[in-house]
Amino acid sequence: MSSDSAPEVFDITFVGAGPTGLFGAFYAGLREMSVKIIDALPQAGGQLIALYPEKMIYDSPGFPGIVSKDLVTNLVTQAGQWNPIYALGQRALNLTRRSLPGGPAEAQCWEIETDKEKHLTRTVMLSAGIGAFQPVTLKEGGADRFEGKGVVYMARDLNEYAGRNVLIVGGGDSAVDWALALESIAAHVTLIHRREGFRAHDSSVNALKASSVDVRIFYELREIQGDDRVERAVIFDNRTQEDTVLLVDDLILALGFKADLGPIREWGLETIGRRYIKVNQRMETNLPAVFAAGDIALQEDQDPLNLIVIGFGQVTVAVNYAYTLIKPGGKVFPGHSSEKMAGKAVPR
Ligand SMILES: Cc1cc2nc3c(=O)[nH]c(=O)nc-3n(C[C@H](O)[C@H](O)[C@H](O)COP(=O)(O)OP(=O)(O)OC[C@H]3O[C@@H](n4cnc5c(N)ncnc54)[C@H](O)[C@@H]3O)c2cc1C
Repeated sequence: MSSDSAPEVFDITFVGAGPTGLFGAFYAGLREMSVKIIDALPQAGGQLIALYPEKMIYDSPGFPGIVSKDLVTNLVTQAGQWNPIYALGQRALNLTRRSLPGGPAEAQCWEIETDKEKHLTRTVMLSAGIGAFQPVTLKEGGADRFEGKGVVYMARDLNEYAGRNVLIVGGGDSAVDWALALESIAAHVTLIHRREGFRAHDSSVNALKASSVDVRIFYELREIQGDDRVERAVIFDNRTQEDTVLLVDDLILALGFKADLGPIREWGLETIGRRYIKVNQRMETNLPAVFAAGDIALQEDQDPLNLIVIGFGQVTVAVNYAYTLIKPGGKVFPGHSSEKMAGKAVPR
């Protein structure tokens, strides 16, 4: 919000800080638009951070291979050149057309209401992927009591686990990726999974089997114990019900994420099936000044191609058309970045 009483109206607001939203934020900055980015997760990166932070990506242009979380860091740095405003940890719930504060009577903007605040914007970019991510949480066994006191659902800074005993619960990509990434950082890593088969990629599971991670299959979490912080975890063999007590400092409950388009479906947008927002070739939705790009967007005559590079391309198209709404008479073609960025100190 600006310091005077009128709320700040951004030129463009991205709902979703996945790769599509982050690259779009860079592009909108290049076009001198003021940018806000809303995401339900506390961290930018979308699926790359929530689902496969340690996995290699081989089909991002310019990178023969890059670790998912590093691509996110690069995208955040690239977008950061224009100082976008982040509203993380906020789920967008409602979209309402309203009059533009301080504008002529007929001028309108959009109000995006989240579970925390209201944001005003001239144009909206739905870069919401497969919907707002929320971790699957555990209520039993003391998990809620120790949340933030040794129990997390998403590992952020892995260096915080240096020299510690970590228990990871889960059998998907995030559980396996975090176990492998922590192998050389933590003092000891145990991973428990309730069945034999893992949902993670085969190559990751093979790496796990070859690692020093203490993998226990058919084990589940019964209880977390400690005073102010996690000190022990009671796990049990689900074939025999026999308990084992582990001394642990931290638990990562990688039980998966629920993604839900949820409220976006109620915004009056035309959809294709339950998953996709219908867009035209300019990436416009049926609502004025509302665009969509990335995994969430689909044109009527297309098959879904849910890939990072497609989102990059689509959001570039969308931002350049959004620009023409902000600067009437402005050109869709942005010019070349080599000219636009000339003289700007670019982080490397
Ligand atoms: C295991 C795995 C491996 C993959 N490997 C590759 C690969 O190698 N190459 C490749 O090109 N693609 C890969 N993909 C696909 C790729 O991750 C997606 O295409 C990409 O993440 C789509 O980006 P996006 O920004 O459109 O959406 P997302 O990454 O899904 O980001 C959308 C963001 O929007 C937020 N959001 C949604 N709704 C709301 C709301 N109402 N309020 C606030 N925030 C909201 C979500 O929390 C999320 O952070 C892989 C996917 C998986 C699962």
